[in-house]
Amino acid sequence: MAFGRALADLFFPRLCMVCECCLRRGEVYICSACLADFPCTDSLYQAETTVLKTFEEACRPEKLYSLFYYSKYSDYRKLVYALKYRSGKKLGIYLGKMLGEKIGRQVGIQGIVPIPLHPKREKKRGYNQSLQIALGITEILNIPIYDKVITRTRNTASQTGMSVVERQQNVRNIFDLQDCHSVRGKHLLIVDDVITTGATMRSCVETLAQAGNIRFSLGCLGRTWA
Ligand SMILES: [Zn+2]
Repeated sequence: MAFGRALADLFFPRLCMVCECCLRRGEVYICSACLADFPCTDSLYQAETTVLKTFEEACRPEKLYSLFYYSKYSDYRKLVYALKYRSGKKLGIYLGKMLGEKIGRQVGIQGIVPIPLHPKREKKRGYNQSLQIALGITEILNIPIYDKVITRTRNTASQTGMSVVERQQNVRNIFDLQDCHSVRGKHLLIVDDVITTGATMRSCVETLAQAGNIRFSLGCLGRTWA
């Protein structure tokens, strides 16, 4: 097995997703140098931060957990690109596990809701990257995933380059609540790959809040502000 891997590495070297140098034995997805330089965010954001303030007070998330700073000028953005466009199913689990370690067991989260894709987009990609991240988190924290409680009813345009107001309008009423009972009364972690203005998260939280008596926290790989 080890010989097979060594042979495979010789002919098809595995590359670091960030700097694209050849990975050495024991390294997975990200080389040791890029891991050492990982642009980690502070461990959590409390409700007073700017993005969380834009949520309605009645369903304002308590905490926001993120793994790294996402900038279009940083090579670490390639992780998100690979996750979404280069069949990064396993990469999603790997990064989700990193996020799960960062969240830790102490926070009392009772369920994870990955932001759903529109069925058409999920079919095209073959998977939902947010679900992959959720699967990684739950490998570490052993929290149930509720990926059927909401669906995405509208296939929205890409939000890249949109203003804050345009993003809000783009994602208004795009989710439908399918099942109130399984999440009612729980503390949920809503998971997405990147948070920019929080517009998609806000739309999702407003829909889920209809289930009643829910506490929210947010989890993402990248957040775009320092
Ligand atoms: Zn690297």
